Amino acid sequence: MDIKKEIINLGKKMVNQGLVASTWGNISVKMNTESIYITPSGMEYDSLEPEDIVLVDTKGSIINGKRKPSSELPMHLEIYKAREDIKAIVHTHSLYASAYAVSRKPIPPIIEDMAQVIGGPVEVAQYALPGTNQLAQNAIKALGNKGAVLLANHGVVGVGYNLIEAYKACLLVEKTAHIGIAAEALGQTYILSQEEVNWMRKAYLTVYGQD
Ligand code: 13P
Ligand code: ZN
Repeated sequence: MDIKKEIINLGKKMVNQGLVASTWGNISVKMNTESIYITPSGMEYDSLEPEDIVLVDTKGSIINGKRKPSSELPMHLEIYKAREDIKAIVHTHSLYASAYAVSRKPIPPIIEDMAQVIGGPVEVAQYALPGTNQLAQNAIKALGNKGAVLLANHGVVGVGYNLIEAYKACLLVEKTAHIGIAAEALGQTYILSQEEVNWMRKAYLTVYGQD
């Protein structure tokens, strides 16, 4: 399928699965070393047509498209610059993950699917205003080499080697945040050790699934 259509379908899914409300969140895909597709700023995902997806270069200049690109373009560009392995970024404002982001507490690796995809705790980036370069720098620092990061008082950024992986990261962060809060209510939370997480992460990247 055309990548622009894939981005739009994912945006609709993000709304339908409750990871964002209305126009918030954004999605980008790195096409090659010179160009990135990104969602437009402040448009309802339901209304998006392929021509609304903006093609930008690595400095953020528009190569193709009539729409204003996402206000979080600086963060997307900086993450691609810092992590060569990343080919797609999904930013959501999901509920339980945002509760951690508001408490400014990392989401610990407590469940195996999340441990495999994220590779450790989801750290909270220091607070910065949305759309700023400072937010981009803070996000990169807290992301490290993992699959997701929390933006303080804001939401989630999931990254991956393709769009499905970046979206999976956001879904699993939300699922884990929900479980984390429920487990806390039950009174006991056992956290997987970094050694166990590393074992699962490696297995996920090398032997899990089909060849
Ligand atoms: P955009 O609509 O400009 O992509 O911004 C949404 C958002 O989540 C800002 O952090
Ligand atoms: Zn946001």
